[in-house]
Amino acid sequence: MSTPRETSVVRHLVGRLAPSPTGLLHLGHAHTFLLAWWHLRSRGGAVLLRVEDLDGPRCRSDWVNAALRDLEWLGCDWDGAWTLQSNGIERLRAAVDELGRRGLTYPCTCSRTDVRAALSAPQQGSVEMRYPGTCLGRYESLAQAEESSGRAAALRFRVPPGKVEIDDGFCGRASFDVQEEIGDFVVARRDHSPAYQLAVVVDDAAQGVTEVHRGQDLLSSTARQQHLRCALGLPEPLFFHLPLVVDGSGRRLAKRCDAVSLAELRERGTDPRAIVAWVARSAALDVPARVSTPEVTPLFRLERIPRAAVRVAPGHASLVT
Ligand code: GLU
Ligand code: ZN
Repeated sequence: MSTPRETSVVRHLVGRLAPSPTGLLHLGHAHTFLLAWWHLRSRGGAVLLRVEDLDGPRCRSDWVNAALRDLEWLGCDWDGAWTLQSNGIERLRAAVDELGRRGLTYPCTCSRTDVRAALSAPQQGSVEMRYPGTCLGRYESLAQAEESSGRAAALRFRVPPGKVEIDDGFCGRASFDVQEEIGDFVVARRDHSPAYQLAVVVDDAAQGVTEVHRGQDLLSSTARQQHLRCALGLPEPLFFHLPLVVDGSGRRLAKRCDAVSLAELRERGTDPRAIVAWVARSAALDVPARVSTPEVTPLFRLERIPRAAVRVAPGHASLVT
């Protein structure tokens, strides 16, 4: 009797940590990165570190250095050399050009105010404004758009109608109609740099990433990214959108708010094992009050992580003292 071939194929797991150096990392990042790291390492997976620095003026090199130190301090290692997304910008520009050649993008000279004014009714409660397609068919080329409008132009992707189904390894199934909810979205910004939605898709494929772990706030972006993957013929990784860390009033911790940074905790002499233990306990693991990152790896079970967001008190002082 012959053994089915598939049984001998070991699928290599490759995941990534992808911090953006637009501020100092905080406990929300520690939470996502540790869960991702444990999920990958507990199954023998590789962990890549890609610093996503495309957001030009908002990225700073001291924040890149702080992120590297934070990860080392927490006990997360990575395979190979870490990469800076901007070093691969030619690959991203080539993908933008390919979409353009195939007629899948068009220039847009609208400001946020223009988009808001074009909407028939204010979209209450919605974080993002749907782009109503104002510039579709309006210009012949990027250069012509900029010349005739006297403004810098972005490039938008023509989103096909219909729903995108996502089968998330943590959240389960979700479906989004990107054209109806978001409209045609930006793939190259007004300064002509590749936008996040495109960059993440192209780089994950180029780096052989098979699993994407990130916060649940990015679940709806996944649908946009699926459209791009499909248009560019890129393979689809598995997704794990993990619970967010929120403050006392239920708001996601953000760099721009007063979330205590990991750098500050580090400088205050906090024991990183207390943070590791807090993350492990939030993932329903039975660990002592101080534990190292590798010690948690054999205990980790993705399916045990509670679905709800993790709440931290203002200042998070009680957590780490
Ligand atoms: N760099 C993105 C962020 O910090 C995450 C990108 C991703 O995981 O897809 O929000
Ligand atoms: Zn426009």
